[in-house]
Amino acid sequence: MEEVIGGAKKRWNFGANEVVERSSPLSIREYLTTLLSHLDAGDARPVIPLGHGDPSPFPRFSTDPSAVEAICDAVRSNQFNNYSSSSGIPIARKAVAEYLSRDLSYQISPDDVHITAGCLQAIEILISALATPGANILLPRPSYPMYDSRASFSQLEVRYFDLLPENGWDVDLDAVEALADDKTVAIVVVNPCNPCGNVFSRQHLQKVAETACKLGILVISDEVYDHYAFGEKPFVSMAEFAEIVPVVLLGAISKRWFVPGWRLGWMVTLDPHCIMRDSGFAKTLINVLNMSTDAATFIQGAIPDIIGNTKEEFFSSKLEMVRECAEICYEEIMKIPCITCPCKPEGSMFTMVKLNLSLLEDISDDLDFCCKLAKEESLIILPGRAVGLENWLRITFAVELDLLIDGFSRLKNFAQRHSKKQP
Ligand SMILES: *Cc1c(COP(=O)(O)O)cnc(C)c1O
Repeated sequence: MEEVIGGAKKRWNFGANEVVERSSPLSIREYLTTLLSHLDAGDARPVIPLGHGDPSPFPRFSTDPSAVEAICDAVRSNQFNNYSSSSGIPIARKAVAEYLSRDLSYQISPDDVHITAGCLQAIEILISALATPGANILLPRPSYPMYDSRASFSQLEVRYFDLLPENGWDVDLDAVEALADDKTVAIVVVNPCNPCGNVFSRQHLQKVAETACKLGILVISDEVYDHYAFGEKPFVSMAEFAEIVPVVLLGAISKRWFVPGWRLGWMVTLDPHCIMRDSGFAKTLINVLNMSTDAATFIQGAIPDIIGNTKEEFFSSKLEMVRECAEICYEEIMKIPCITCPCKPEGSMFTMVKLNLSLLEDISDDLDFCCKLAKEESLIILPGRAVGLENWLRITFAVELDLLIDGFSRLKNFAQRHSKKQP
């Protein structure tokens, strides 16, 4: 950058960082900010947010009072004012290991659990640890965009395999095999899936694990929506297939307890055959953890009680609410000709719908659709490109029921107003 000072040109040595610029435009937050800037201030109706991933502001999705108590008790105890250790305090690691083992055919060791500041920090740490020069990683398309951003930022090459809408959003395993080479380090799967709303079957997860084993790559299983399965398929953790291939499991209390702001997540290394250990990767992971900030100690201190005192009834009633929202969402989508939902949502809080632009006039693409929708109807829906699929939309259905119903009536009006008139 050059600036003229007193007639002479002064040079400054710092400026935009191209690496960051290239990786940052992918964020969901940025798309949402763009959409909010299109809102019409003259519209007196409340804005309906069906683009976000955080239902915690809605009273229907408030967290369990026992979790709030656990946090208050932890702070009052004065036992958690100290620094944490880099993989988390022992009682938190133990509580998470036991929590995850409840549904498994074996016990996870607390030594394999590393506490992080939300699932996102686990992604950051893992991607940083994997990013060696020349390496590449296989990411699903569509996907949760933080993987792409962090990989580009760490200069880890990204190769995309498709999730197949015609096969219930299963992984295109042939594509995975075709994409991988001897510099491929890992494959990411998100189950239950943000953004697609599907849940992988046990058989499919096993095939993913077998394919990864054949290719000699790590499986990263993002299970931040663990147990958000309300369709026919039960949630099965990739942890069940760690005998086949080394697995790193990612999770958090963010989504299941509706407290993403508490920033508590985990990264669990499942390595029964010591492949991660013997290759040196386990040590690298610890080194990266050592240079990263820790989750707040009092939140970690509260974890045993958050997990121990939340009744099953809390989870089942929230799951039922999300299922009800998903049901309404799917029915309403079917009433709108210009969008189609290839798979009825059966997990997470999202669904993907395809835009049929040929039925619309004066709408050029998904982003245009969403910007005009924000402006004309004060309704926020995420353009598919934000998660890697142009001319699709990602709809969040975990909101208050009246908002959801109102949102769909606005969407219907919008679609009608912009549909091509019959000659
Ligand atoms: C929300 C989300 C995350 C991030 O979780 P935090 O605990 O809020 O950091 C990671 N992966 C997916 C798929 C998510 O939807």
